[in-house]
Amino acid sequence: MAYKRRNVREKRGGAALLMAWLMLLCALAPTALARVAVDALDGGAIPPAASLGALQERDAVSETEDTRLGFYGGADIAGSLFSFTVSPLDHEVIDPPLYAASFSRAPLPPSAAAMRVALTFDDGPSVYTKRILDTLERYGAKATFCVLGSRVNNYASTIERANRMGCEIIGHSWSHKSLTSLPLAEIENDISRTASVIKRVTGTAPKLFRPPYGSVNNDVRLAARRQGAAIIMWSVDTLDWSSRNADRVYNAIMSEVKNGSIILCHDMYATTADAVSLAVPELIRRGYQLVTVSELLRFDENGVTAGMTYRNK
Ligand SMILES: [Zn+2]
Repeated sequence: MAYKRRNVREKRGGAALLMAWLMLLCALAPTALARVAVDALDGGAIPPAASLGALQERDAVSETEDTRLGFYGGADIAGSLFSFTVSPLDHEVIDPPLYAASFSRAPLPPSAAAMRVALTFDDGPSVYTKRILDTLERYGAKATFCVLGSRVNNYASTIERANRMGCEIIGHSWSHKSLTSLPLAEIENDISRTASVIKRVTGTAPKLFRPPYGSVNNDVRLAARRQGAAIIMWSVDTLDWSSRNADRVYNAIMSEVKNGSIILCHDMYATTADAVSLAVPELIRRGYQLVTVSELLRFDENGVTAGMTYRNK
């Protein structure tokens, strides 16, 4: 019996409490709504759309950077949103769960999410290099030119243009001798002589080196390390020097390319320039960002080490 009475009393008390809450809510709601309207007009506690947009943009970048670590940023930004909330209703307008939904699950910005690939051109420069540069410039793309030291002075203006466009100019030996057949001192001399003539034109000593024929032995590795250069090979071979056929070069690129590829071409053939004029826009359409080899390797957390050999990212 005592139990029953207490239960009724508790029910009555609960109903009274509920009524009191409802009345309070009805009394507060118009004030709170008015407050939102004023804030929206004054640009007060609610952040103007532009500044919120800026926050969104900033967070999208940090989120991209942190994605590979499995961390979705936002705590700092959420904290800064809270810092200008002055009433519970404002807090509700800039609701953290809404924020999390719209930022963390937003698609990554195309530039940050792009796959990266490096086109490389060996044995030039030549009269065809200009056409390749025209294509790259048209699409805002970059490439790496692995030049022969003996050709640099004859094509200095081409190299200057490539350098101004943000392309990378590196050495591919002085005259395309296979370095593995030379004594160490001659290999070093060949690499440094080529690097010097490049630096005279571009103002920058190359940090990468591509040996002729991809031939490497311990002396070539040692020479490259002493010159402070990493050795770069390739992961996609277009065989453009052999086929001299634009379709086959284009198809070789498109069938083998993947994120981090280093693609080997030669800026010595009209057919290669033709293939590049089709491949560059198509690569971009497929979501690739065309970067230099140094830029490609820089995205690797381990960076680049002189004397080491790299075939792709
Ligand atoms: Zn070559």
